[in-house]
Amino acid sequence: MPSRSKPELPAVALNPRQELLLTTLRRAGAELSSQELHRRLSDGQRGIGLATVYRQLRWLQQRGLVRSRLLPGGETVYAPLEHDAHHLTCVLCGSSVALSQCPMHDHPLPAETAGGFRALFHTLEYYGHCAACQQPTDATRTPGSAG
Ligand SMILES: [Zn+2]
Ligand SMILES: [Zn+2]
Repeated sequence: MPSRSKPELPAVALNPRQELLLTTLRRAGAELSSQELHRRLSDGQRGIGLATVYRQLRWLQQRGLVRSRLLPGGETVYAPLEHDAHHLTCVLCGSSVALSQCPMHDHPLPAETAGGFRALFHTLEYYGHCAACQQPTDATRTPGSAG
């Protein structure tokens, strides 16, 4: 769409550690916690402490290269910025399914609303009842058993 311009970020020079972190995240194909990332790095390369991993992740995030989100359990997971995935989480059975595409992809934050704010990434989660949990099960269902 010609009317929408991509947010331009200045090119960032990465040091070898930052390159390694970013490459590892990209190869993972899934979101990783800082602990998991640290564990993967320790397999091949020594000398990168967890605190360093965390600090470098934060640095990469501040420059718009890495995104993070907080899981319901309280853990923060990281992914490359281009990993724009969202989930449908069932509050009854706890299943969590990734959406095939980002519903906000074609709805960038309007400039008049943002007031000069430059968004790097967003998080978006849907909570509800999955299809399976909406199926009435004839006899076994015990509605209103709570009391
Ligand atoms: Zn469910
Ligand atoms: Zn999205």
